[in-house]
Amino acid sequence: MDINKEKEFYHIFEKMVSAMTDPHYFDRRTLLNAIKEMSLLFGVGKAYTEFYTSRGAEREGKGDILVGFDGGNPGEVIIDIRVDTETGAVVKGRVYAEEGVTIGEEERGKLSLATNCVLSFLARTRLQRAIEKMGFYDEQNYPNLRSFMRYIGQRIDMKTINNYAAIHFNIRQLTLINREIGRDNGDIAMRGYFKMFENEIGEDGIVCHVGGDNFVSVFEKEHLEKVILILNGKSVIYDKEKGKEVKMSANAGVFVIPEDCVMERPGQIMERIISASNVAKLGGKESIVFYDNKMIELKDKTMRIQREFPDAMSNEEFKVFYQPKVDVKSGRIVGAEALCRWFKDGKMVPPGDFIPILEQSNDICKLDFYMLDHVCRDLCRWIKEGRKVVRVSVNFSRKHLRDEYLLEHIMEIIEKNEAPHEYVEIELTETTTDVEFRDLKKVVNGLQMEGVYTSVDDFGMGYSSLNLIREIPWNVLKIDRCFLPTEEDGEESVTNIMFKHVVAMAKDLGLECVTEGVETHDQLDILKENNCDVAQGFYFDRPLPVEEFEERLARVGYNI
Ligand code: C2E
Ligand code: MG
Ligand code: MG
Repeated sequence: MDINKEKEFYHIFEKMVSAMTDPHYFDRRTLLNAIKEMSLLFGVGKAYTEFYTSRGAEREGKGDILVGFDGGNPGEVIIDIRVDTETGAVVKGRVYAEEGVTIGEEERGKLSLATNCVLSFLARTRLQRAIEKMGFYDEQNYPNLRSFMRYIGQRIDMKTINNYAAIHFNIRQLTLINREIGRDNGDIAMRGYFKMFENEIGEDGIVCHVGGDNFVSVFEKEHLEKVILILNGKSVIYDKEKGKEVKMSANAGVFVIPEDCVMERPGQIMERIISASNVAKLGGKESIVFYDNKMIELKDKTMRIQREFPDAMSNEEFKVFYQPKVDVKSGRIVGAEALCRWFKDGKMVPPGDFIPILEQSNDICKLDFYMLDHVCRDLCRWIKEGRKVVRVSVNFSRKHLRDEYLLEHIMEIIEKNEAPHEYVEIELTETTTDVEFRDLKKVVNGLQMEGVYTSVDDFGMGYSSLNLIREIPWNVLKIDRCFLPTEEDGEESVTNIMFKHVVAMAKDLGLECVTEGVETHDQLDILKENNCDVAQGFYFDRPLPVEEFEERLARVGYNI
């Protein structure tokens, strides 16, 4: 080979190698230029490489092709290399001479050296990229949670994190959307929504998929307004040809990272957007919830109570308090409601502080059975001691309706204590779903057959449906105190009219009617005027410890 040509080759080769071995970055342009110069020097028509992460990918033709040079006139193949790397990846290199050009042995040797060099470089960098892809993308090719955490981590390190807002969002009703337009179209729509989001958050931001219909994102604060528009709902095209689109929106938790807030770990940001998003998902009025510090306190409290609950049960820290139910005409106690109180470290915790938390898990069911058990014990003791006995109602959470054997479980406790069935009443609240309605009907029917009383609690508070009363054989209707008129409500006020008719309806249907929350004599008068039989409220007594309740029972009654 001509000495000058050889010199020229080494000169180009050196450029090539240095483009590939710069530890800071891969100089793609220099590499391609060098390959071009070398191709021209030797009369190469075309040179390219292929990279596949596995043999399977090679079979399916799913790989990356890097065309180093294409003079548009390839002839004979002069180099054809295929390497199976140790990691299972496959790299290939092919070089064609220009049509009509022959390339000598020595020149082929040099070209082969250069091709091998490029291949080994590719095998390394492409693999690195593939690994990165595996670690930072999910199987649907969305960036994953790890990408998100890394992105935040980098901005924490650069001390720029306070310029950002972070959010967790959950696409609303994706299951319904999938059902309506089909799973594949649902996937396309989700991708479209994601892209829309990605376009709005600007260059410096990231959206990542964290499974199912959940995403997280972090972006500069200035984009927040546009992001909220997308969260509130946008139409997404899923079939371009037919012009079909679907409206998508999301529930979201937002954390606008305050200027003066010190963030040390990405987890702190994650924690905040998740708690805000959980509040949004709970389905209150707001579907976009901004994080505030109270949310973390609430989470801590929830975890503490859930942790302490089992010991509190076995230490009998929960006590039954009895609130009398009074016959409006005679002033006699005709019943009582069992209400739970938690005595924790000598202090009394009211139910509003722990019942909603226990309702997040099945702990509430354990507590309700515990309450029923203790009430049955008291009932039997009163009978044994020859005291006056009245029917006692026990609150049962809606959570129980998932229990297929609820009726059996209730009866087991009553039978075990040998409590007379007619002294036990189970209070249940209105339901929201059809499934719950069916289960509720089954349980109330069953209790009815056993001679155990049942009542609808808090009537009027939730989604009351008249079906609830028509189709289920309740004994008692408990009207919530929000239905009870106060002094300010006039004779013709809506509350007054509704109260009157609800009582009348209950009575006509043969239901016993109890009004909760009677606090004043005037309210008692309203009950009397409307023929409501029974009153429960602070006007007579607050919920009482058992000994005090027993004293009340022994008395003749209240002065009416
Ligand atoms: P609830 O079943 O509607 O019970 C009536 C609530 O009204 C009780 O609150 C009672 O103290 C309160 N109350 C009674 N009279 C008056 C009044 O005149 N004025 C006012 N402002 N309030 C009155 P409490 O004891 O704080 O219980 C709150 C709720 O916690 C109960 O509402 C019930 O839903 C739940 N709860 C209490 N104990 C249990 C239990 O053992 N199991 C279950 N599942 N829930 C329980
Ligand atoms: Mg109740
Ligand atoms: Mg109630």
